[in-house]
Amino acid sequence: MIAASDDWRLRDLAVLWHPCTQMREHPHALPLFPVARGEGAWLIGFDGHRVLDGISSWWTNLHGHAEPRIAAAIAQQAHTLEQVILAGFSHAPAVTLAERLLALAPHEPGRAPLAKVFYADNGSSGVEVALKMAFHWFHNRGDHGRTRFIALTGSYHGETLGALAVGDIPLYRRVYAPLLAEARFAPSPDAFGSRSPEEAERKAHAAADALAALLEANAGQVCALIIEPLLQCAGGMRMHHPTYLRRARALCDAHGVFLIADEIATGFGRTGTLFACEQAGIQPDLLCLSKGLTGGFLPLCAVLTTQTVYDGFLDDSRERAFLHSHSYSGNPLACAAALASLDILQSDGVIARNRVTAAAMAERAAQFRDHPLVAEVRQTGMVVAIELHPDPGPSEDGHAVEIAGRRGLRMYRAALAAGALLRPLGDVLYWMPPYCVGEAELDVLVRATHAALEAARPCD
Ligand SMILES: *Cc1c(COP(=O)(O)O)cnc(C)c1O
Repeated sequence: MIAASDDWRLRDLAVLWHPCTQMREHPHALPLFPVARGEGAWLIGFDGHRVLDGISSWWTNLHGHAEPRIAAAIAQQAHTLEQVILAGFSHAPAVTLAERLLALAPHEPGRAPLAKVFYADNGSSGVEVALKMAFHWFHNRGDHGRTRFIALTGSYHGETLGALAVGDIPLYRRVYAPLLAEARFAPSPDAFGSRSPEEAERKAHAAADALAALLEANAGQVCALIIEPLLQCAGGMRMHHPTYLRRARALCDAHGVFLIADEIATGFGRTGTLFACEQAGIQPDLLCLSKGLTGGFLPLCAVLTTQTVYDGFLDDSRERAFLHSHSYSGNPLACAAALASLDILQSDGVIARNRVTAAAMAERAAQFRDHPLVAEVRQTGMVVAIELHPDPGPSEDGHAVEIAGRRGLRMYRAALAAGALLRPLGDVLYWMPPYCVGEAELDVLVRATHAALEAARPCD
C-alpha cells in the first residue's frame, strides 16, 4: 500500500509543477502527500493514511470534503446543463444564486443595497473585476485622473498582476514590481500585540487617521480602497477591530472613493458571521466572494455591486460597457455547488453551530498562550492564529509566507506526522478547519500544534 503512494509521488514529480512551491524542496525537505479521497475534515492517502485538513484546503472547504449534498447537486446539474456562454444567454443556477447572494449580502440601513452580481471564475479574477469596475466607472464619467488604488500593508488579494499590485507580501510581489499598477499602501489596523479590545481599537483609529491623510494627499487620484475586512489572511492571519471598517467606510464616502471588500477568504461564516462586514455594520460598494462560495468544490467568484456602479456603464457606446469576461463566467456546475452550500449553511444552522465550535477552539488554543515560543494566540470566529516569536535562525524573509524558512518546513512536517495539515504562514501557525470539525478532531489539531512547536525549538 505504501508503494502505491510512492508510485504516485514519482509520477507527480515527473510531470507537475506545484503552486506556491520551490520545487527543489520536493521530495526531501517537503514531502508530497498524494490524496486518494476526502471525507469530512479528513484527507486520505492512497495508503489509507489520514490527515486532518486543518486549513480547509487553502481556506476553501466549508462543510467537509466530498459533502454528499453538494456532490449530488453538481452531478444533477452536470446531467442538465454543464456550461453555457453567459453573454446573451442565461441559466437558472446563475440567476438563483445572484438573487440569494444579494438577499444575504451585508446591508447598511440608509444605503442603497448591493443590487447586481458579476461572475468571475476565481478569487484573483474577481479582484481584477472589482478594480477594473471602480476605475472604469470614474472613466465613464470623464474623470480620468483616478488611476490609483489604496490597499493596506500586509494585504493579499491574489496573484494576477492587478491583484498583485494591491498586495503587500514582498516575496510574492517583489519580482513583478516593474509590471504592477500604481497603488498606495495605508498602514494595516492590525491589532497584533494588543492587550485589550481598547488597545486594538486605538490601533484601528491610528490606522484610520493615516488612511485619512493618505486619501487627502492623493485627493482626486484614487478610485478605490480595497480591504480584507477583520482578517488579513495570507498576511499572517492578522486581525483588527471593526471600528477601522466603520472609519474606512466614512472616509471613502467623504472622498467619493469606492470601498471594495475582499471577503474571498472571510466570507461565508469564517469570521463568525456570514460576512465580516456585518460585524462593523458596514456595506461595501463592491464585494468579492470566492473560496467558500461553492463550499470549496469548484472555482467561482461573485462580485456584488450597487445600482449606481451598474448604471455608470449603461450607454450607447460599447466602450463604456464592462467588456470583461471569462470563458467560464457563472459556470452552472459551480453555481449549483454554491446554491447547495448556501442550503447547508442555512438549513443546518451552521453559523450558530460554529459559535460552539469556535468556543471549543478557543478553549484548546488557550494552552499555547504561555508556551515560551509563542508571542500571541488570537481568534476571529473559526480562525485561530498562534504566532511565534520571530525565528532567531536563518530565514529567507521576515514576512508571512507559507512554510517559509527551515523552521516553517520543520513545523509543517511535524504537524503532518502528528496527523494534521497545518501550513504555517511565516511565524504564524493557524487553525482554519472545515466547519464540520468535531471535538475529537480539534484534539488532533492540538496534538499537531504541540508537535509543530516542538519542532520549532531552535536546534543546537
Ligand atoms: C485567496 C485569496 C484571493 C485570491 O483567490 P484565488 O482564487 O486564489 O485567486 C484574493 N483575496 C483574498 C483575501 C484571498 O484570501
